[in-house]
Amino acid sequence: MKNIMVIADVREGVLRHVSFEMVTKALEIAQGAKVTALVLGHHITESALQLLQYGVHDLWTVDDPSLEVYQPQVFVNTIEEALNRLKADVIFMAHSAVYRDLAPRLAAKFSAGLASDVIAVVREDDDVYATRPIYAGKAFVKVRLEGNPVFITVRPNNLEAIPVAKDPSANVVAMDSKTSTSLPTIVKDVFQQAVGKVDLTEAKVIVSGGRGVQSESGFVPLYELAQQLGAAVGASRAACDAGYCDYALQIGQTGKVVTPDLYIACGISGAIQHLAGMSNAKVIVAINKDPEAPIFKVADYGIVGDLFEVVPVLTEALKSRQVNGM
Ligand code: FAD
Repeated sequence: MKNIMVIADVREGVLRHVSFEMVTKALEIAQGAKVTALVLGHHITESALQLLQYGVHDLWTVDDPSLEVYQPQVFVNTIEEALNRLKADVIFMAHSAVYRDLAPRLAAKFSAGLASDVIAVVREDDDVYATRPIYAGKAFVKVRLEGNPVFITVRPNNLEAIPVAKDPSANVVAMDSKTSTSLPTIVKDVFQQAVGKVDLTEAKVIVSGGRGVQSESGFVPLYELAQQLGAAVGASRAACDAGYCDYALQIGQTGKVVTPDLYIACGISGAIQHLAGMSNAKVIVAINKDPEAPIFKVADYGIVGDLFEVVPVLTEALKSRQVNGM
């Protein structure tokens, strides 16, 4: 292996933390290979420089208005050119909305293998192995990545990001985007639902509500608790289907996959499809009035009770801790 490329995950011109996590992992498995980071977007050149603090050997940027919103064909063409130039053996991308869409397109272009939603990567001799969930997270497989190149999408919040001394010989190279006039589709604008300030997939703490929340206004106590904790708010699909909250909050097999340090599940039964999105959280707290609810099987701490009584008590306790300077 000679070259590893890490394609940074950028949202609204800002690098997401998973970008640093991927660089740390790439350096760990490099064993002499060169690690090059590629950052695509608009007005990204300055924030891209942060990657140097994580030890990348080279940094390539493509800063262009055509990359401000996700245009699949422009991104594919631009990345393809970069990969052809670098002759990358392993390519890391985030398992984010954009790269979940891009990774298979790129892998198909290169007739290459793709391991997606990877939670661990190791190198054993010359082989690279990736661990990824199967059966909606019920089990994990460790797969050997064969062929060249190979693509990996990495689940955010799973790997460590370790700042290291900047490589003094690191080159920062500005590249052009591959805007084509014959695009099959052109994204003109992206309308985003107003969701919480904290990005769910990168959140350290998530307060999540299910059908037990009972209504849109039932989410208010969850938002109040989340505010005290600096947390993001998530939801089960049943809560989204019932119209209590936006689908952008859905966690699970067909929603977002999250790995926070703390996940507080309120009025969520713990269906397998929900667990697929959150069972890797480091600490799970479940609040449910049914002591037999399956969520208690995966919870580290369980509170059997009415969430409308329990959640405000937690919020008040956190508020009084702040008043007392704790
Ligand atoms: P319920 O199962 O109805 O549970 C509500 C819980 O709230 C109960 O345990 C109840 O005891 C408790 N409760 C009620 N009132 C209170 C109260 N006042 N205080 C405390 N507790 C209370 N689901 C997802 O979440 N994410 C997915 O991505 C997803 N993908 C799916 C994909 C497929 C193909 C399919 C078939 C299903 C999918 N589902 C998904 C749906 C999943 O099977 C469940 O239906 C869903 O997760 C249930 O949501 P829930 O736990 O909020 O609701």
